[in-house]
Amino acid sequence: MTSLGNLRDLYQQVILERYKKPRHRGKTSPVDRYQKGHNPSCGDTIELTVQLNDAGDRIEDVRFEGEGCAIAMASADLMAEAMRGRTMDEALQMVQRFQTMMQGKDEFPADLRKLNVMQGVSQFPVRIKCATLTWHTLKAALEASSNSQPDEFVSNE
Ligand code: ZN
Repeated sequence: MTSLGNLRDLYQQVILERYKKPRHRGKTSPVDRYQKGHNPSCGDTIELTVQLNDAGDRIEDVRFEGEGCAIAMASADLMAEAMRGRTMDEALQMVQRFQTMMQGKDEFPADLRKLNVMQGVSQFPVRIKCATLTWHTLKAALEASSNSQPDEFVSNE
């Protein structure tokens, strides 16, 4: 039990550290995509901005603003970091993989292993929506066409 306990402590430590000292809060400049997301079951709200390359097929930067629990905010910060430099296809595959990981069925390879700390959350079903909110919101942002008006916000209910 000790090693499992330590592992859980590690998850919590990383989540709390990211929550207290986020590295990717703010707004991108310019804002090529904007999407708001809301998780009614916990009250988490997130606003994502995305900067794309000139061709519009690669993510240069992702930033987030919003209010919510430590899990929602930490997940947003980790996601923003992992998305830099990704193509649209890679980004959407990562969203899919994160959702599968939250079902306990997959994890990220070594170069993205930081994201695997969120696996700890999958043990707490009521918090899974907190962790997936930012990924869900990014997917909506990427799938919206740049000249369409985004929906007011996406909800993961
Ligand atoms: Zn939450």
